[in-house]
Amino acid sequence: MNNPGSLIVRCPSCGTKNRIPGTKLHDRPKCGKCHSLLPAPAPGSKPIDVNDASFSDEILNHAGVVLVDFWAPWCGPCKMMSPVLEQLAAQWAGRVKIAKLNVDENQITASRYGIQSIPSLLLFKNGKHINTLVGALPKSDIERQLQAIL
Ligand SMILES: [Zn+2]
Repeated sequence: MNNPGSLIVRCPSCGTKNRIPGTKLHDRPKCGKCHSLLPAPAPGSKPIDVNDASFSDEILNHAGVVLVDFWAPWCGPCKMMSPVLEQLAAQWAGRVKIAKLNVDENQITASRYGIQSIPSLLLFKNGKHINTLVGALPKSDIERQLQAIL
């Protein structure tokens, strides 16, 4: 369900085109021919939408770092965060998964993590909740937090 498709990544050393399955996108894949490390398969990654039903599959069972934006359509500061998350999704593709959860529609998950105000950005590593950042933050602050847990 909801599997991100595979991507073709061209090896910078030998030019071989490597097909990387969606499930492997968060590892740093190697070239099948010369075993060089391939560039992070970006660009164009977008934040994904998660909900109460998909949260454990998409977030808790994900090996690696995930940032989940808890937001709602009526929240002004959440709207300000939206382009920042798009940029993070593109720039950190292959290293950090960026997800969004609408708290109005997914109150089970919101209350499980004690979300009091939005936007709240929750950081997970290998399914473990590591940190919560509250409020609209500059991109550089968020990136510092990501760097700290990668
Ligand atoms: Zn190669």
